[in-house]
Amino acid sequence: MALTRLNWSGVQQSQPRVYKCGYCGKVVSSILGWQGSKPPDQNQPDVPVTLQLCPNCMYPTFFGVDQQIPDVAPGEEVQGLPADVENLYREARNCVAASAYTGAVLCARKLLMSIAVAQGDQPGKNFFEYVEFLANKGFVPPNGRGWVDHIRSKGNEATHEIRMMSRPDAEQLITFIEMLLKFIYEFPSRVPIKTP
Ligand SMILES: [Zn+2]
Repeated sequence: MALTRLNWSGVQQSQPRVYKCGYCGKVVSSILGWQGSKPPDQNQPDVPVTLQLCPNCMYPTFFGVDQQIPDVAPGEEVQGLPADVENLYREARNCVAASAYTGAVLCARKLLMSIAVAQGDQPGKNFFEYVEFLANKGFVPPNGRGWVDHIRSKGNEATHEIRMMSRPDAEQLITFIEMLLKFIYEFPSRVPIKTP
């Protein structure tokens, strides 16, 4: 998605900061932005925070302690997706960018369920049953079984149990789904259909 470059007034020079912009996806070195601080907790020094402007798209990113908001959405765009799958995939990725990892995993699971049901599985099963179904249908390459085992070990829980997820959990699940989406939707849409 192309972003319209923003204009700002009163921009200040800041310490240079190199980061990957969560809006345009470019790795940039920014020297534009605003310095600030978070008031100290008891007897602790002020914590510096900054708002940096990306020199490419001029969108602002907040940097706190170990925090970048918005962060970079993991995964890549996949072509040939139906609109509802595309929206849910984007939402899962954007949840990670917003540090909402449990939300990302929940979106990812809903996505896996819709993909499996679209491929002929029954609604109402648990998350791992859908992963198994897709693997058994041949949508996971032979050397990708490690993924399925990994997800089985992560997803060893009841259907509706929700536990807090970490960023690596969310990123791994999104990487797995990106691979599935490419196999199921993107590659077939790029191969010319042979007529007998
Ligand atoms: Zn940018």
